[in-house]
Amino acid sequence: MVFALRNYDVILIHPPRLLESNKDKNSKFIRGSYIFIPMGVFAIADYLEKEGFGVKIINFPLEQYLNHEWSLTGFLKNINFKICGIDLHWLHNAHGAIEVVKIVKEVNPNSKVIFGGYSASYYHDQLLKYYKEIDGVIRGEGEVPLLRYAQMIQKNQRLDSVPNLSYRNSSKQIKINPITYTAKNLDDLVFTNVSLLKNAEQYLNHSRRLMGIAYNLSIGRGCPFNCPFCGGGQRAQQYLTGRNNVIFRSPEKVIEDMSIILDNYKVPSFFFGHGTYSASLKYWKNLFALIQKEKFDIGGDLEIWRLPFPKEMWRIFHKTFHRKYSSISVSPRTLSPKVQDRIAKICDPTFKFPINQINDLIKNANLYQRTLRIWLTAGYPFQTRSDILKDFIYAMKCLFKYGKSNFKPISIYNEPFYIFPGSPAHRFPDKFGITLKDNSFLQVAEAFKNSKISFLYNVVNYDTEHLSGTSIRSMNKLFFLSTFLMFFTIGSNISEVRNE
Ligand code: SF4
Repeated sequence: MVFALRNYDVILIHPPRLLESNKDKNSKFIRGSYIFIPMGVFAIADYLEKEGFGVKIINFPLEQYLNHEWSLTGFLKNINFKICGIDLHWLHNAHGAIEVVKIVKEVNPNSKVIFGGYSASYYHDQLLKYYKEIDGVIRGEGEVPLLRYAQMIQKNQRLDSVPNLSYRNSSKQIKINPITYTAKNLDDLVFTNVSLLKNAEQYLNHSRRLMGIAYNLSIGRGCPFNCPFCGGGQRAQQYLTGRNNVIFRSPEKVIEDMSIILDNYKVPSFFFGHGTYSASLKYWKNLFALIQKEKFDIGGDLEIWRLPFPKEMWRIFHKTFHRKYSSISVSPRTLSPKVQDRIAKICDPTFKFPINQINDLIKNANLYQRTLRIWLTAGYPFQTRSDILKDFIYAMKCLFKYGKSNFKPISIYNEPFYIFPGSPAHRFPDKFGITLKDNSFLQVAEAFKNSKISFLYNVVNYDTEHLSGTSIRSMNKLFFLSTFLMFFTIGSNISEVRNE
């Protein structure tokens, strides 16, 4: 019997960190395998589909997780496709993404392979230079550029008018089209067409357990801040994607997304893909009021990008989301006022997380019984060993004070950090007293290939003036293990009456 192959115009593959499936059972719970698909991929897939292209999304690490024997080669041999998009947003997929390209071209040498995402945007010229299998890289925001690319390929036309595209032309020369597309309005994009993903239901079922987050809700694009190591801040986005401003989706659209997901899948909570700061509080109040009106029985994961986070917000958050599967996170990275001041002076005057306001957060989290996660890092710029020791002592005091009680939902986490391409410290390491390592794409891919997959991000690509990369890794590990007990007493299993 002859089976007809499924036909797709475009397939989008989310790459793994490593191709080989780790058969160790515990690996099932390892966050580092990173099954998350960047939010924009769903919008891109939907946008292409609406314009008449047949699209499928394949989540390689999810397939690996569901079936250790799963093979991308086997899967690709059973479908026809013309274009393959690979997201290289988070850098830890660097090695896996390159391995995936090789498989795609081996199975279907006539297909076109396009990369996209922040990391790909940064390394676009190196990707094209070092890997002949890659036909193009879309820099920055991808929905319109990928559609134009697919249309041009379909009509066999020149690619010089495709916005944001770097590519190899028919004479094998690398061409770089300017970045001329950034979305002005996100309300026309659909971020919830999850049905285009292979094994969508399992993706949503497993995300919270594997990654700590159930579903990423798109709230807007851009960030007004410049944290030293972040590749998604204001100047980093300007540099990588051409975005000069922050835009928000209308709260009504976000509510529509929540309804679609809740009607079709079982998700315990939503992670909001934008943070809180003074200028965004009004938006959050509007959105939370609408959620209350809809009476969604759901948890919420919210990040504080800048303080203050007033008591009123705690009250509203408490009223909007149930306790189980809800959290509020803040990432001062260090509590040292001296370090914060130097960072504020060098790259972002808003980088201020005063201890009295952190203590207020703790007080309100206890009052409203909502999980508070405080993220610290050993190895932030200018941090001395004594600064790290003071942070550690603060974390220990919290552990003894709150770590034994389910009714005091405070947790302090510590993680090593990677300096992301495009971030302030990556572009100007000297200003931060930092020596960067593994800076070319080849070195980056090799570093992630050789790193063990673990709960934390375990590649450290720098030394500071006070600490070597090796000490940074060890100190973070020690710090993390010392405070990890608090993770078990965040009280998420305690039921409550919410809308009092
Ligand atoms: S880490 Fe800082 S710069 Fe990056 S998205 Fe968050 S608030 Fe913005």
